[in-house]
Amino acid sequence: MLIRNVRPWGGEPSDVEISGSRIAGIRPYDPAADTVAADPAVSSVPAAGEVVEGRGRLLLPSFSDVHVHLDSTRIGLPFRPHTGGPGVWTMTMNDRDNWRSAEVPLTERVAGTLERMIAHGTTRVRSYAQVDVDCKLEKFEAVVAAKEKFAGRADVQIMTFPQAGILREEGTVDYLEASLKAGAEVMGGIDPCTLDRDPRKHLDIVFGLAEKYQVEVDIHLHEPGHLGVFSTDLVIERTRALGMQGKVTMSHAYELGSVGESVSRRIIDEFAELDIAMATVAPSGRGHLSLVDLVEAGVRIGLGEDGQRDYWSPYGNCDMLDRTWQLAFVNNFRRDDLVEMSLAVATLGGASIMAHEVPRLKGTTDRPGLAVGDRADLLLVDGETPTSAVMDRGTDRTVLHDGVVVADQLSLTNA
Ligand SMILES: [Zn+2]
Repeated sequence: MLIRNVRPWGGEPSDVEISGSRIAGIRPYDPAADTVAADPAVSSVPAAGEVVEGRGRLLLPSFSDVHVHLDSTRIGLPFRPHTGGPGVWTMTMNDRDNWRSAEVPLTERVAGTLERMIAHGTTRVRSYAQVDVDCKLEKFEAVVAAKEKFAGRADVQIMTFPQAGILREEGTVDYLEASLKAGAEVMGGIDPCTLDRDPRKHLDIVFGLAEKYQVEVDIHLHEPGHLGVFSTDLVIERTRALGMQGKVTMSHAYELGSVGESVSRRIIDEFAELDIAMATVAPSGRGHLSLVDLVEAGVRIGLGEDGQRDYWSPYGNCDMLDRTWQLAFVNNFRRDDLVEMSLAVATLGGASIMAHEVPRLKGTTDRPGLAVGDRADLLLVDGETPTSAVMDRGTDRTVLHDGVVVADQLSLTNA
């Protein structure tokens, strides 16, 4: 396959050759070989012969959403007034009271959400699947079904997630274990202090199940200030003791930077040393660890979209380019190199969490993913520069997964 006339990371117009699932060659664009007029109305889906017309668009790595709740979504359904109250438990109960009565069955909603994500340029997904004594494995199975439905179009990693805590409701552990037996690839944990109010017991169960089923750990942490740091230290302690370097991710953890410079520095250094990754959803607020410091320290860091227009919040539209804009915005980035770094985090940064053969970002100027030999997980999008693409969030997009065009003009192709 040949992708003609694209600008990798905003560079010179190039023709990019794809062989199988990999980028096989990149050479200067050859206008003499033009076969299709530069007409945006002409579809860029390749026919036989496999030429993708880039039409001068930017070429970027496709997105990796490493924190999405595919099972918590009302994407495509009528907008609904927010009925949640304050606090994780109250919000969890609000979801419990409502999710079953949605206009469309859960399996369809989950699949529709994943489809829309792929159509907008995301081909790697780490999704939560809530497991508790009320929904049991119903949500988990809906995420599994969506993963299978789109198996050729995106890599989906499923995390079993005790959204309602592990210790509050009798029987939760059995369902979590059942989901691990059924193939969950990551063991989730949540707010060990504020939700379960027994951080040692909570984390011992999370890490114990992860060790038993040889899966990674991802801790969803909303805890404030010192409490969040305390829980994080318990995670660091267990990662070190169990030799789980490279197998633990902290999600949200948006107040780890709020208790002073020396603590922030220590946590970043320990994350780097133990290869503990970070997944952010680009929240507002000023308490988070510095994104620049995390990247410079070599901490694997990825971006996610969280719930999608669900019973928790009205936000989310399945577009990681939008969420990349948000990441740049909440970090107050203006310089092009930092906005572009946000794109690197949203693409290969997340990929490095999901697949350890993908190297972590080497620093704020690293623009990975488009070299000969790299897997052809790609996004073509209109824009003058990578920064302008983040600001304008164009819709003239073509998406490749594993060397195959899977979406064009925000719709899936019939591959
Ligand atoms: Zn979340």
